[in-house]
Amino acid sequence: MQSTRYIGRFAPSPTGPLHAGSLVAALASYLDARVHGGAWLVRIEDVDEGRSVPGAADGMLDLLRRLGMHWDGDVVWQSRRGALYQAAFDSLWEHAYPCGCNRREIADSRLGTAPDGSAIYPGTCRLGLGAGKTTRSLRLRVPEPGDDTVSFVDRFAGRVEHHLALDAGDFVLKRADGFWAYQLAVVVDDAEQGVTDIVRGADLLDSTPRQIYLQRLLGVPTPRYLHVPVLRNEQGEKLSKQTGAAAVTAHDEAGAVAALMDAARGLGLALAPAGSLDGFWRDAIPAWAALLSARGETI
Ligand code: GLU
Repeated sequence: MQSTRYIGRFAPSPTGPLHAGSLVAALASYLDARVHGGAWLVRIEDVDEGRSVPGAADGMLDLLRRLGMHWDGDVVWQSRRGALYQAAFDSLWEHAYPCGCNRREIADSRLGTAPDGSAIYPGTCRLGLGAGKTTRSLRLRVPEPGDDTVSFVDRFAGRVEHHLALDAGDFVLKRADGFWAYQLAVVVDDAEQGVTDIVRGADLLDSTPRQIYLQRLLGVPTPRYLHVPVLRNEQGEKLSKQTGAAAVTAHDEAGAVAALMDAARGLGLALAPAGSLDGFWRDAIPAWAALLSARGETI
């Protein structure tokens, strides 16, 4: 199953150990890369150094190895790539502006929250910092309502249309704590690593239009996207560190197979119980190909 150039990636944030929800995203991106005869990269998204937990990234890499998920090339660490983010920011300067607002002031404007939970920025500092304000963050100006539509076709969700001004507002490129924002770092890295296919959790679907807008401003290609459904706990909350999701473990081969079988079920892959890691991968790769074919994709 060799196809045109395909570069996929898994890009976990090391804010804690890998949990079942992140393993579903990892497995989907891995299977998709393998089915397309492509490369699968791993990038540690530790750009938010304040939230990175020491040792978490190494634990994730060790787990991926135990699960038989071997990545191509060297692991990339966002915390070492500040110069690339700065250069991208410099090329965006005419679309960016300093903002002196704090969280409370933004929340008080009551424009509501974007689908990802962040408060929509009312544009207070667009025309300059107000009297007595000092720069806290650097924001990207989005187009006015009417010119702000970004649409794309997600391989699972289908056509997605989003209005940047109303759904997100001017968004942060460099945060008040001095760290580069996820939206900028992820776009710069995907472009610099030549990523052609992004397969990740549906919790990031609402970030994709902002990322596509940044890609356009930076003049880099837009990859294909596939957002897989996120796992939820019994309360209907997305599995995450905040909702207390348990760490995935794989102390031995049987444990590794069990973790992978769970993740495969999360993707809707009905696999016969596997007795070994090799057996799991032998079944899972064609099962993912069959799932794509059933959805009308040609591989
Ligand atoms: N680092 C992000 C996360 O762990 C994922 C970023 C991405 O796949 O674009 O939620």
